Amino acid sequence: MSNQIIKFAMYAVLLIVGLAATHQLTKEQLLEDNRVRTQRHAQQLAQYIDSEFSRYSRIVEFLSDSAMVRQTISLGNATDDVDRYLNDVQQASGASDVYLLDRNGTVIATSNWLLEHSYKGNNFAFRPYFKRAIQGQSVIDFALGQRSKQRGFYFSQGVAIDGEIQGVIVLKANASKFETDKARLDTSDSSQFVLFDTNKVVLLSNNPQWQLHSVSTLPEQQQRQLQSSQQFLFRDIAAIDWQVHDSQTMVRANKQLYVMSQAPITDTDYRLWMLSPISPFADTHAARLAVAFVVLLLLILLVEYLSVKLAGYRQLLFSQSSLEAQVQERTIELEQAQDALIRAAKLATIGQLSASVNHEINQPLSAMSAYAAATKRLIARGETDKALENIALIEQLIRRVHAIAAQLKSFSQKHDNKMCEASLVQCIDNALIVVGPELNRHQVSIEKTLIDVNVWVDPYQFEQVLVNLFSNACQAMEQQSNKQLRVEAMTQDAKVYLSIIDSGLGIEHHALNSIFEPFYTTKSEHGLGLGLSISKQIIESFHGNLSAHNHPDGGAEFLISLHQQEPES
Ligand code: ADP
Repeated sequence: MSNQIIKFAMYAVLLIVGLAATHQLTKEQLLEDNRVRTQRHAQQLAQYIDSEFSRYSRIVEFLSDSAMVRQTISLGNATDDVDRYLNDVQQASGASDVYLLDRNGTVIATSNWLLEHSYKGNNFAFRPYFKRAIQGQSVIDFALGQRSKQRGFYFSQGVAIDGEIQGVIVLKANASKFETDKARLDTSDSSQFVLFDTNKVVLLSNNPQWQLHSVSTLPEQQQRQLQSSQQFLFRDIAAIDWQVHDSQTMVRANKQLYVMSQAPITDTDYRLWMLSPISPFADTHAARLAVAFVVLLLLILLVEYLSVKLAGYRQLLFSQSSLEAQVQERTIELEQAQDALIRAAKLATIGQLSASVNHEINQPLSAMSAYAAATKRLIARGETDKALENIALIEQLIRRVHAIAAQLKSFSQKHDNKMCEASLVQCIDNALIVVGPELNRHQVSIEKTLIDVNVWVDPYQFEQVLVNLFSNACQAMEQQSNKQLRVEAMTQDAKVYLSIIDSGLGIEHHALNSIFEPFYTTKSEHGLGLGLSISKQIIESFHGNLSAHNHPDGGAEFLISLHQQEPES
């Protein structure tokens, strides 16, 4: 239960952290996008103002050199044609006024000559645009119109006659023209701009509340200077109510945060600031958070699904490995049990054989003692040649007893499987050494039809099988008067077929399928019923086969098939 709570808490933390990270990243990316866009808008507007300023400057330059203007200055007064000409220029250029001042700063010709506020006769000698132009400068100046009370840019240039400046031509462009033109540019509607001079006074802005305000608070002395220059007539220049942050890249005004970008205006000291509002939560933002939410949810579901799968897989692995361990344990137990059974079967066979073995060992021993006594007498008589012959016979008998003892030992011992190509004849002879005494006791005649061939077996185990089969045959013939054991071998297709045929009563028909079953026996005494089942297992471990049937001539036939060499698996 507590694990579930921890998991749920982890998922909740993952969701919250993921959404917070998405929010932060989106915020930063949108801010960066906004900065780039604002910078582009600032440059677009600055370029537009640049191009308009240079267009007006060129018009003024052209007028200052025109024959009509120069002639008017030379004459000192203007005809209506001059006024009309200036009016045409004003109309065509989009300027608000174009006028000509004589060397004293008095207007002698003007485009607004027919209007009520005609400048004709007015004196503007106090205006910087006159003062500087009469001294030969090409001027761009800003001022609040004395009569019109309109903000405007003044473009002025001296009119030279014989190399001496004797008048000034002036073109005035209304500031509002630039502000409305901004809307026509490809700049955002919501963005706002300010264009300010070296005194930090805003000359242009599409926000009327910022016009003729300063971007930062002006010192008292500067205020007085501005008043005396009458550039803004007698207006007080108040500072705009905003805070500029982050080294002039962010502005907060009226609780609204703006991204700010700057751009200079060529050939002037004016600077342009473009401000774009930062929307706290844009639509893009909401959409991204929704996508992040869905993705995180899918991720959580995937993790949950995988963890369930993994737990199942782990469980499977665990049960598989514990199953394997159990199987291994059981296999070892079975192997041990089988070993014990084999030994028990062997001991049972030895028990059955012991009487015969006794007899077989006693016989040579008695013979040996007889030969030993005779040898003593022969030595006493000095017949050493005969004595030596007796001793050779004694040695032969000793070898026979050794052989029987060795076979019995190896038969009863437990040993590891050692496969090899062994001589078939040798294996049969070895088995007969063990079982021979019993066969002799029962006067069984043995008929061998063998071939000298190798078989792929573990010789010790193979001999055990043979001992078993010979012993069974002997027992089956116990009640028969004719006791005959035939051992026949033949080869076919790299295989050896060995038949052991007895002259007993044969296997009862109903028992043919059961005799290889463990513990199947018809012998009430001494019978364990393991001999054939173990023999079959041993032969199968050689990749061979052991089968039984009744021979057509009577008696049982046990057929063993074996490989001559190690078979290719
Ligand atoms: P056991 O000899 O202890 O009974 P085996 O597994 O060697 O165990 O033999 C099982 C049974 O097969 C015997 O009890 C016997 O009935 C039958 N059997 C084995 N060999 C022969 C044979 N040569 N002739 C007839 N029956 C046999």
